[in-house]
Amino acid sequence: MSYENDNIFAKILRGEIPSEKLYEDENTFVFMDIMPRADGHCLVIPKTPCRNMLDASPEQLSACLLTVQKMGHAVMQAFGAEGVTVQQFNEAAGGQEVFHLHYHVLPRHAGVKLRP
Ligand code: ADP
Repeated sequence: MSYENDNIFAKILRGEIPSEKLYEDENTFVFMDIMPRADGHCLVIPKTPCRNMLDASPEQLSACLLTVQKMGHAVMQAFGAEGVTVQQFNEAAGGQEVFHLHYHVLPRHAGVKLRP
């Protein structure tokens, strides 16, 4: 499976469609999910083309996971969360809808379910 440049997150990275940016560094970009399943639900993506985790280089994986950890701490503090769920889907059969690697970072509170 190849990378396609017209996916929504590639357009966000190119500034062609707007996003609510939370954080950016040399290798990764973080923005709010447009349909949040929890308050503070954000997405961590690599700045370079990558279809999903199956397609990722060691550098892309490590950069994304370091940013996921950073955002986990940040959203816990910002939203007073007690935990964080990290989700990541690969290919349509695996639940992936946007074909640019992304990690969902979801602040969690005890007893509060994720919205559908
Ligand atoms: P799923 O939709 O099953 O979670 P993905 O892991 O591919 O599958 O998630 C795509 C995510 O991207 C969804 O949570 C969706 O709300 C989000 N999304 C789609 N378009 C945008 C956008 N323009 N800005 C921010 N988030 C978006």
